[in-house]
Amino acid sequence: MGVIVNISRLVAGLTFVLSGFVKAVDPLGSLYKLREYAGALGLTMPDIVLLAAAVALAAFEFTIGILLLFAINRRAVTRLALVFMVAMTAVTVWLVAAEPISDCGCFGDAVTLTNGQSLAKNIVLTGITLLLALRPLSMPRFISRTNQWIVKNYTVIFIVAVSLWCLYDLPLFDFRPYREGTDIREAIAAAESVQPTVTTTFILEKDGERREFTLDDYPDSTWTFVDSRTVTHGSSRQSEIADFRIQTTAGDDITDSLLSMPGYAFWLVTPDIGRADDGCFGEINRVYDYAAERGYVFTGITASGEDAVTRWQDMTGAEYGFLVADETLLRTMIRSNPGLMLVNDGRIIRKWSHNRMPSNDRLTAIVAAGGAQSPTDGRAGRVVKILLWFVLPLALLTILDRMWAWSRKIKAKTRIISSTFKTKKTMRKKIVAGNWKMNMTLQEGMALATELNETLTAGRANCDVVICTPFIHLASVAQIINKDALSLGAENCADKAKGAYTGEVSAAMVKSTGADYVILGHSERRGYYGETPEILKEKVLLALENGLKVIFCIGESLEEREAGKQNEVVKAELEGSVFNLGEEEFKNIVIAYEPIWAIGTGKTATSEQAEEIHAYIRSIIADRYGNAVADDTSILYGGSCKAGNAPELFAKPDIDGGLIGGASLKAADFMGIVNAWN
Ligand code: PEP
Repeated sequence: MGVIVNISRLVAGLTFVLSGFVKAVDPLGSLYKLREYAGALGLTMPDIVLLAAAVALAAFEFTIGILLLFAINRRAVTRLALVFMVAMTAVTVWLVAAEPISDCGCFGDAVTLTNGQSLAKNIVLTGITLLLALRPLSMPRFISRTNQWIVKNYTVIFIVAVSLWCLYDLPLFDFRPYREGTDIREAIAAAESVQPTVTTTFILEKDGERREFTLDDYPDSTWTFVDSRTVTHGSSRQSEIADFRIQTTAGDDITDSLLSMPGYAFWLVTPDIGRADDGCFGEINRVYDYAAERGYVFTGITASGEDAVTRWQDMTGAEYGFLVADETLLRTMIRSNPGLMLVNDGRIIRKWSHNRMPSNDRLTAIVAAGGAQSPTDGRAGRVVKILLWFVLPLALLTILDRMWAWSRKIKAKTRIISSTFKTKKTMRKKIVAGNWKMNMTLQEGMALATELNETLTAGRANCDVVICTPFIHLASVAQIINKDALSLGAENCADKAKGAYTGEVSAAMVKSTGADYVILGHSERRGYYGETPEILKEKVLLALENGLKVIFCIGESLEEREAGKQNEVVKAELEGSVFNLGEEEFKNIVIAYEPIWAIGTGKTATSEQAEEIHAYIRSIIADRYGNAVADDTSILYGGSCKAGNAPELFAKPDIDGGLIGGASLKAADFMGIVNAWN
């Protein structure tokens, strides 16, 4: 299953990346497509809104693709991808049923699909994203969680920058039929041999009934015409080039003579001259002068009427004339209004946006090179630029991240090995601590303490034994125990030193009873009494100031474990309350790892699970305080620990004993666990 999930992840990720990227490189193309959708729905929306939507859509798809490939935010991203694909499938069902648009535009102009093909593709992708949403955690991460923010932010910045650049300049990759290098005459001849077919559906009404007809079954005049719909079947690309027609303002078709004109010619393509950017007219006039001096043709081509042309000529001082062509054709030829094309004998040599007009030197160099592309200008050059700007930094980041993760693993392993063979059993304190919680009256507690004290005095344990009792037992128990055999601790202390805090017991008061330990950070206190990392930080400081040793509890909930967040949780808990301590202070901290899902539930973490996270805890202590402190820190396991499972748990190199709840309430049960160290 894992293999299938990861192949699906690759397919979905690459598809999202491709569809986002091809839209991002041609934001105006996406705007035109969204305009078609809005028109089909009877909506008129400002271009700026459609343009923002086009950029956002491209960025969304590209980013989702990259996040899928890197397996970042796996649950949220797979769900988002699924919701997106369900919505897109619904749109393509509508396209197939009503045919309002012939090409859905999923892959911009890079790949044109019929509506039926789009629907099939979307159904497959919905299935794939559903599988990913059901099994998000089967996708292994490429990069550690700590470094994922770099990938996320870099991806969004990169793709939005690509869109903005392509809006300012021209599409980085031109997927339309009028790309540089195209011989327009050859392309027209090829397109004419495969003309798409066009069908028109007529909607007519009679006696309140509406029906659709084609030319073949057009009814008699008793039916009233309501609307019609024309759909192009086959590639609309063919018609985009086969429909290439240029006329004079008088209406004469001069397509052939224009295309067969030998030598260089500049075409200033201006689909809508009324909305053309006139800020660049100085640059345009310079290119005109350049052409005129060398005897090259320079002509404007527009879809606008004579008035608009005259206004442009008056405003810019243009000395060149204009030819006329269809607006859609001109928008397809160049994504700039105005845009400049250099043509030689019917072949497109170069195209420029009005924002980046070529200098005279550049034009001379192009002419001198016979119009040939330099390696950095062509498609290959642009692919290399994308690789350098996007793929290379992410690849380097991934390599560095993997090396970093690997070195941490090696460090942790080395630590485990060295602790197993050298220091662990000899140097670190082994501890079994009981946590009585809110159990036992004073009399019951005294009886249990007395029994334990006698047993432990009679035959010394192989570990330190501590009982942590309710406050009311402390002073009495302290009187009867032999401190060499049994230590005493409290289950809590206040986060204030002293004063008007009714009902609270301070660290100083705990210490004054004769107790030496205090449990802090227990999940029951965090959960039921709202003890935050900040409160616990105060309590730890006060406990240490008063000479108490702290058994500091950390651990994740079941939900967090299932989400694989256990390391993150324990790290945050340590950082929030004890990693502020200096090295000397930290030596008085005993860590108790207690997965919340194992406390009082009868479910114990397996010894492997416990060892794995204990080793991790030790590694982050080492990162903070160095190997020597980490090797000396006792890390106890807590959570349904009993005499039956204690030996297996305590045999693990990084488990130094236990914090025992339920099983600490009976002397025999508790001693069974203490004796696991024998
Ligand atoms: C505890 O509450 O600290 C504990 C480990 O409880 P139990 O042993 O009952 O799971």
